[in-house]
Amino acid sequence: MSTLLATPIDHVKGIFAEKARLLSTELGIHTLGDLIQHFPFRYIDRSKFYSVAEALGSDQLIQIKGRLRNINTIPGKKERLEAELYDETGVLHLVWFAGLKWVKPLLIAGQEYVVFGKPAEFNRKLQIVHPEIQNIKDFVAETTGALQPIYNSTEKLRARYLDSKGIEKIVKSAVLASYHSIEETLPEHLRRSLNLIPLKEAMYNVHIPTHPEVLQRAIFRLKFEELFFVQLLLCRQNQLHKKQYKGFVFGKVGNAFNDFYNHYLPFELTNAQKRVTREIRADIGSGRHMNRLLQGDVGSGKTLVALMCMLMAIDNGFQACLMAPTEILANQHYATLRELLGDMPFDIQLLTGNTKKKDRKILHEKLQSGEIHILVGTHALLEDEVVFKNLGFVVIDEQHRFGVAQRARLWKKNTNPPHILIMSATPIPRTLAMTLYGDLDISVIDELPPGRKPVKTLHYYEEKRLRLFGFLKEQIQLGRQVYIVYPLIEESETLDLANLYEGYEAIQRAFPKPNYQIGIVHGKQKPEDKSFEMNRFQKGETQILVSTTVIEVGVNVPNASVMVIENAERFGLSQLHQLRGRVGRGAEQSFCILMTSYKVSAEGKTRIETMCRTNDGFEIAEVDLKLRGPGDMGGTRQSGIEDLKIADIVKDNQLLLLARQYAEKLLENDPDFLHPENQLIARKYAELQKGRLNWGRIS
Ligand code: ADP
Ligand code: MG
Repeated sequence: MSTLLATPIDHVKGIFAEKARLLSTELGIHTLGDLIQHFPFRYIDRSKFYSVAEALGSDQLIQIKGRLRNINTIPGKKERLEAELYDETGVLHLVWFAGLKWVKPLLIAGQEYVVFGKPAEFNRKLQIVHPEIQNIKDFVAETTGALQPIYNSTEKLRARYLDSKGIEKIVKSAVLASYHSIEETLPEHLRRSLNLIPLKEAMYNVHIPTHPEVLQRAIFRLKFEELFFVQLLLCRQNQLHKKQYKGFVFGKVGNAFNDFYNHYLPFELTNAQKRVTREIRADIGSGRHMNRLLQGDVGSGKTLVALMCMLMAIDNGFQACLMAPTEILANQHYATLRELLGDMPFDIQLLTGNTKKKDRKILHEKLQSGEIHILVGTHALLEDEVVFKNLGFVVIDEQHRFGVAQRARLWKKNTNPPHILIMSATPIPRTLAMTLYGDLDISVIDELPPGRKPVKTLHYYEEKRLRLFGFLKEQIQLGRQVYIVYPLIEESETLDLANLYEGYEAIQRAFPKPNYQIGIVHGKQKPEDKSFEMNRFQKGETQILVSTTVIEVGVNVPNASVMVIENAERFGLSQLHQLRGRVGRGAEQSFCILMTSYKVSAEGKTRIETMCRTNDGFEIAEVDLKLRGPGDMGGTRQSGIEDLKIADIVKDNQLLLLARQYAEKLLENDPDFLHPENQLIARKYAELQKGRLNWGRIS
């Protein structure tokens, strides 16, 4: 970066200490360079004027031309200023609660003004609160271009006259002052190939737009550059990782795998399962260290794939382990794997926080001697006493619950890091996955086993509860089982628990013993009580299981065919989808019933509608991402996408893919940026590297 751009902003003309401090605390703007990278988030067409009548239907920021009348200061606890702007189509009310001192002198009855703001209806009158207002004469004099950039600001900044307009002013002068110091960052060959305008011009035009078309090109150039460097960093990291860490070579497929495949496999693999198994096989046979994310919707059969990989490890003289985020899940994985392996001569064991001390000791010994082939467990696997003879393959279920540091501990369980397969049942759009897990390779199971009936999803308002209970009774009559899930939100755990027990009691009244048996599980129970209840449900001894989201992931009871979700509006989309995945696992038609009150926010409605419309986890993930934005998804901080200043990985999806392609191509031709034509890349890369030394060394 040029030295000029590194200048602290309080050295910039017109920005004094107080404003500088506010800009840095409120917006993270410390230097001149930061300031010119505070990009507008939209533009207003200043050549277009709305009439008052047209303003009525608009909920946008617009500008309206008209004359003023009835300018009044209304006294009260909080004094306010009111005025009417009128034209031949109607009257618009203007209101100010703050800044009266300097607005009032500007307002002269009978004069023509340009007003700018977002109109809204209030008491059947059309009004704008705190509009920008300018005398038409000043407006003509000041407005150079037709497009006005609109900048993010904050309450505190606005109080210091740094509203969008104020920021526009200082950014503009910063751009003009630094224009000649803005150095190109993309090499000629890239710019030519994509027809990108120079950085300098892009910077100028994005803040001081001269023409809509040039503005579009400026935005394109800046977004591309931003996404390109994010992808370049991620891809390069992946590349370095592969070079740096030698992986165990699983050279052969032997008896363990073949016997299982030929004699024990309970069903034909889906094509997707075959494909990802081949992908993994190629990776672990290559001598590189595998670091792979296995994505697949709930019920897509990831466990089976994981088992086959573990068998390959055994075939090559290694041990394998599977780590699950909860006790329930670990138990279940253990049971599933045991069953799949049948009488195959492999020793598979379970280790959780609940394993007795005495058993633990034996287990440790057997692990160390290599007698145990597969170890399934929870975080307990990470403890230092857990020493393998030769750990070669690690499966992690639902990785988002494990931190980077924890994963690092797994790495240290052998001389070389074992191959890592992370199974995630939270589908995320591919572009996001690429960015969040840019340093992982990704395999996707995009197909469900055949013969599954898609779960039918219905939305019931509270008033249909009797009908719901009737339906549940019918289903239970048919021999099926039911989950009823209550939300648990950590901040108010006691309240939620009360809610859960209240629901439980109501259900007990509606489904009395001895005809009905009801179980309850929640996170505050003792583990043994929890597994007692889970077992009863699993064995069919209880017909209804009332629970919190502890059953969210992985629980597998094929006979359960109804999932009722209470207060469904309080759940996020991916959680709803996970919960729904608990049913539809058997041959019967399954149902998911989303219960809500009438009070549901617009976003809540979208979530419910999405659930009723589709069963496709990837589609749901797209909607989720649009609703919540990427900032809320786990792991975004490490990936650098929170630092994005102009691009948006949701909206600029296509551009992200393009940037990825270019980053990959460049790394292929010149991995260390040594070619003279890539000098600019080398420089920018080094600069970015400095900023993030520590993220993501370990995946
Ligand atoms: P995931 O972990 O991806 O949610 P599971 O591995 O638990 O899914 O598999 C879901 C269910 O589908 C299990 O009951 C499993 O036995 C079954 N299953 C897996 N693969 C197949 C297949 N190829 N054909 C039929 N059923 C399968
Ligand atoms: Mg699973």
